[in-house]
Amino acid sequence: MKQVPPFEWREDSLKVRQFVYEFWCERSYGPNMRDMHEGVALSRRQILDALYELQMGGMCVLDLNSPHQSMHRFLPFSGYPTPVKAFIGDRFLGYIGCAMETVAFSKMPPFEGQEVRIESYCACCLAPVTVTSKDGKTLSQQPETVLIHVGLNPWDWNKISHNPMCDSMNYVIDAGHARKYEGMVSSKGVVFTMTQAEGLVKGVADNRMWDYNWPTGSGDPGQVIEGIRALGVDVSPWEQ
Ligand SMILES: [Zn+2]
Repeated sequence: MKQVPPFEWREDSLKVRQFVYEFWCERSYGPNMRDMHEGVALSRRQILDALYELQMGGMCVLDLNSPHQSMHRFLPFSGYPTPVKAFIGDRFLGYIGCAMETVAFSKMPPFEGQEVRIESYCACCLAPVTVTSKDGKTLSQQPETVLIHVGLNPWDWNKISHNPMCDSMNYVIDAGHARKYEGMVSSKGVVFTMTQAEGLVKGVADNRMWDYNWPTGSGDPGQVIEGIRALGVDVSPWEQ
């Protein structure tokens, strides 16, 4: 077993998760330990334990070697620059974990009814990519041919850290650029249209921050691949 099996959240973890979502959506940066202490009235040790549990449940990636367990990611946000920036108008909302989050991000309650713009680029040639979405649906995409390349097999997602999975989900401006990128990173993958991406992230988009008790994020990789196939994605590279 490579991935953490589902488990019940403790109340401290739910409190911290909700606080981090609200803080990051409002301010466009993540909270530090004192912010969390003030927000949820837990001690340093309780916050560290809650964050650790949240990582085990697939919600965040921490620096586990740091006494502060600094947040590298708290999905959908990233604490450091990624290829994906989010905006509403001129307001920068933060760096987003990966291209696949684009549509799910716009479904978060604080952004309800607003047009969220994602500025990113083709993973191989850095040509600009812009996608707008609202309430979990894509409104526009530039260029029209844009795809999301996923270069990591679901059997290798979420093994304690989301980083390899998130970093493998990137925009490419078309199928030819996907093949070029695969050569650059020596990793074959599959490609999603924006509509197929909406289908993949719908479960997350409909529940993250909407459901305070949203369960842990572990999924069965075999079922994930079947679900992706059902969206019409060619998953044959993962079946070799
Ligand atoms: Zn390219």
